Amino acid sequence: MLAERFSIRVSKDYFLFCCAHFITYNGDDCERLHGHNYRIAVEVGGPLDPNQYVFDFVALKRRTQSIVDELDHHMLLAMENPLLPVAEQGDNLVVKFGTKMWSFPKEDCVQLAIANTTTELLAKWFAGRLTTELEKQYGYTPKVMRVEVEEATGQSATYAITR
Ligand SMILES: [Zn+2]
Repeated sequence: MLAERFSIRVSKDYFLFCCAHFITYNGDDCERLHGHNYRIAVEVGGPLDPNQYVFDFVALKRRTQSIVDELDHHMLLAMENPLLPVAEQGDNLVVKFGTKMWSFPKEDCVQLAIANTTTELLAKWFAGRLTTELEKQYGYTPKVMRVEVEEATGQSATYAITR
């Protein structure tokens, strides 16, 4: 039996977000603050619509770009990491790890409801955020969504979900 599948993918050079972050790993280790020039590629799959396409490329690029812009030039903070508690202190967010402490202007941070800012979880977060945007703006829920986040050339993580 033949099975057809259609998908569209956007991976523009300008889907770039330059962000600072650090993660915890191996239980009780924590990276030093550093940054990446993250790039993102997004794929949605599903049946063809009456236009004979999966989804409008322009709309997909627009929504992807808007989320990229939200992240670009910000400090990425994982708000659900029990090893990195985040507390508000005036206009700042203070993050602690053991004897280390970082303080960032709140407006310079993006607070993400994830357990760690690994590339994998950033890809998952992006997919969730993009799905919400597509549903809200266009009433469209992709049957398949794949998001690839590249944190360095030739080094990426992919999250995929099928509904
Ligand atoms: Zn990193």
